[in-house]
Amino acid sequence: MIRPSPLHALRLLVVTLVPLACSEAHPAPRVILISIDTLRADHLGLYGYARETSPFLDAWAKRALVFEHGFTPAAWTLIAHMTMLTGLYPEQHGVLEGDQALAADAPLLAERFQRAGFATLGLYHPSWVHTRHGFARGFDVFRAHADVKEAGQHLFEELARVPRERPLFLFVHLYDVHGEREDVRPKSVYSAPPPFQELFVPGAAQRFAGETYQDLQHRTVTDPAEREALAALYDEGIRHVDAALGEWFERLEREHWLDDALVIVTSDHGESLAQRGKVGHGGPWQEGLRVPLLVHLPGDARAGERVEAVTHLIDVVPTALAFAGLPADPALPGRSLLGPLARERVLGGANPPIDFVVRWPEKAVRVGERAGSFDLAADPGELHAQPLSEAEFQALRAQLALDPRTFHRPLSIELTPEDAAELRALGYGGEMDGK
Ligand SMILES: [Zn+2]
Repeated sequence: MIRPSPLHALRLLVVTLVPLACSEAHPAPRVILISIDTLRADHLGLYGYARETSPFLDAWAKRALVFEHGFTPAAWTLIAHMTMLTGLYPEQHGVLEGDQALAADAPLLAERFQRAGFATLGLYHPSWVHTRHGFARGFDVFRAHADVKEAGQHLFEELARVPRERPLFLFVHLYDVHGEREDVRPKSVYSAPPPFQELFVPGAAQRFAGETYQDLQHRTVTDPAEREALAALYDEGIRHVDAALGEWFERLEREHWLDDALVIVTSDHGESLAQRGKVGHGGPWQEGLRVPLLVHLPGDARAGERVEAVTHLIDVVPTALAFAGLPADPALPGRSLLGPLARERVLGGANPPIDFVVRWPEKAVRVGERAGSFDLAADPGELHAQPLSEAEFQALRAQLALDPRTFHRPLSIELTPEDAAELRALGYGGEMDGK
């Protein structure tokens, strides 16, 4: 019998230890998802906006992958976030109304990560992103904040409790760009704090003195100067959040939280800014459905790449799973944003009675029984509808090829009087549907 030499034994030891050493050399993967509620893509410098609303995000975009045509399925917080965090279309997750919660058998991204051993941390503003709809599922910590300032405090408090060697999923929902609360005094439509007030149009707030966001939803805004003032007030809120993110990211980088992190920055929907007279989240139009989508990879990989293929909030979950090395879920309709994306993708959304389908550059929209089609390349403002029959709309919609076996039945919930009061304070009226 030949005994292994000490040198051979040493080699064996080295061969055995090297893979371990390699895996230890890589920090734990982290996935950070930031949803800036009500952030209209075309009001950011990185998407061509002239006003300086987003100096931090513009600089960040130069280090990230930027998706030019990001879609939300619905210009409403509840449906859109449910899609963002399940990877399912509205018909599939089934949460279409304010008195519904996610079915127990539909997994949320946080649950997938928790099962895989990740620390899971969710920081949210209590509106529609709320425990009652199921959003807390899978989070080790699901903590509410009043505003971006408090969110920042919670962020670093909670991170300090996360062991560095643990992989991490962090979700942050920020509400400061959204219209002002109904119960805040003095009344205002949007209200960024100093020093962001009066940043773009002096006297803009005076034009809406004594009015709330909800008040404006009950009238039309057609005077160009009034619309300009409205946009300026909205833009102040973007600048406010952008400045906070700049401070957070400087610290996150300094403390090495981003060394092996995927960072996705997006929004649940845009804002109409009375572009067609009505104030709201933009309904079926691009001002409501086009969202920013930035994906940052470790080491600034693929920095500054601009992707023209259409993308969608359904792509967030597959992207996060792919980056973290978790298996893809074939039941999900989206694709990883890190891989190749077909330009002829067919994507869509629903917020009853609104339905839409996009096959770039065509966008087909149906509201109730009326359908029309737009060429988003030639007519980005959607001013010239081409007629579309119900059969033609259905033929397009069928191309989404949603498998009925992936449809979940939502749970019915009852809003408590406290919930209802809170939602009313946020400017959601009697119908509670945000449409
Ligand atoms: Zn929202």
